[in-house]
Amino acid sequence: MKCKICGGKAVAEASPEKCLALCAPCYVDWFPRFIAETIRKFRMFAAQDRLLVAVSGGKDSLAVWEVLCRLGYAAEGLHVNLSIGAEHGYSSASQRHCEELAARLGKALHVVDLKQRHQLEIGDFLDMKDRPVCSCCGTFKRHFMNAVAVERGADVLVTGHNMDDECATLLGNVLRWDLHYLSRQAPVLPARTAGQLVRKVKPLCHLTERETTQYAILRGIPYVRAECPFSTGATTISGKHALDLLENRSPGTKRRFYDGYLKNSAVFRPPEAELEQAAAELSCVDCGMPSAHEVCGSCRLVRFMTERKAQGQTTGGRRRRRRAAAAVAAAAMQAALDTGPGAP
Ligand code: SF4
Ligand SMILES: [Zn+2]
Ligand SMILES: [Zn+2]
Repeated sequence: MKCKICGGKAVAEASPEKCLALCAPCYVDWFPRFIAETIRKFRMFAAQDRLLVAVSGGKDSLAVWEVLCRLGYAAEGLHVNLSIGAEHGYSSASQRHCEELAARLGKALHVVDLKQRHQLEIGDFLDMKDRPVCSCCGTFKRHFMNAVAVERGADVLVTGHNMDDECATLLGNVLRWDLHYLSRQAPVLPARTAGQLVRKVKPLCHLTERETTQYAILRGIPYVRAECPFSTGATTISGKHALDLLENRSPGTKRRFYDGYLKNSAVFRPPEAELEQAAAELSCVDCGMPSAHEVCGSCRLVRFMTERKAQGQTTGGRRRRRRAAAAVAAAAMQAALDTGPGAP
């Protein structure tokens, strides 16, 4: 196939609705232009805004950080280390990739370490009743991302959510008819409560996982390739598989699903004043961040687990280790199946 721009040999393809096959140099030029257009279209931020990019160590967040720096924005990085799969080095490898890219870009990387701050790791939350570990992980990440953005005086918090992530989240919210989350999913979430909830943006919202992976590989961006050991069985993964099936049968399905939601999402959204009031009601007595309760979700998790540990309720320790080992074994099995002789 020939490159649609220069006629050279195409090596990378954008998703079908973009009708684009490109050679390597044209692809790495096109990708930031597409992101710049998304930023402009959704009015995500201005040239002088200070950006904080939440980088997990995965391809998407690292690619968006690299692109924003290429586009000339003042963008620092933030990595939240939750000691995921500590025994297999998942979090340490993730942090190392973030540090490598930070050094290459010559930008500051701020690191929040749950273990250093609270002597806790995400594995401690594996045996919570009625609370999946991913939900605790999300609560911590959202909390630290906002808290550090406020601390550093950032105008905007950037995340690397791509269109596949957004579609999978949307599908999950629709399947549960979770009106609260359906009212809050958007490429731009404006700042609230006098800047204590920082503006959040997703510049990759119209790019697929495949498109971002191609860019990261072509630019030689170091990123962690292993899946999180706790991702096996995560509902967003099943949602992604279901959407891939539909996309293969009818190309463009994901884009239509996501854009259709964006066009109609106002029907789920309470009036602005109501949102503002809900967010502004309280400040967490522990951390001072805006909270719907006296103690915010993140501090509640810290309190709960710290107290449990202090009371010596570590009976879950053995069970936790067993569950962690089972999750790691399942991830290894999945990886073996994915790369086995029958794999594409
Ligand atoms: S799979 Fe779950 S635990 Fe792992 S990074 Fe994602 S949300 Fe966190
Ligand atoms: Zn070309
Ligand atoms: Zn708090």
